[in-house]
Amino acid sequence: MHEMSLVQGLFEQLKGLAAENNSTKVLSVTMEIGPICGVVVDSFQFGFEILSSQEEMFKNTELIIEIPEVTYTCTSCGHQEVSAGERPDACAKCDEFFLTPSGGDDLILKRVEME
Ligand SMILES: [Zn+2]
Repeated sequence: MHEMSLVQGLFEQLKGLAAENNSTKVLSVTMEIGPICGVVVDSFQFGFEILSSQEEMFKNTELIIEIPEVTYTCTSCGHQEVSAGERPDACAKCDEFFLTPSGGDDLILKRVEME
């Protein structure tokens, strides 16, 4: 489960930010997880729960996850479909299977609240 190491990396980043701001507690973290970036949201949340319970700084941290929309463009007819969830199976217009996604492949730390 590589989500665990992603959460570890996130915590390292947050500790750095907290040190810069003289903060000792992280109240909330907003992550943007692209639906095609390869991260399983449930696993990420699970990893976050496990690891945050082990550190005072992250004990009551709220994890907010935002899933951005992805635009899929049909390679055959150019029809575009926007989806924030599952990848469409085929083009709604011409049934072509090959759709090119744009966006949605990033894992981004969007907002952090500290005190
Ligand atoms: Zn099409």
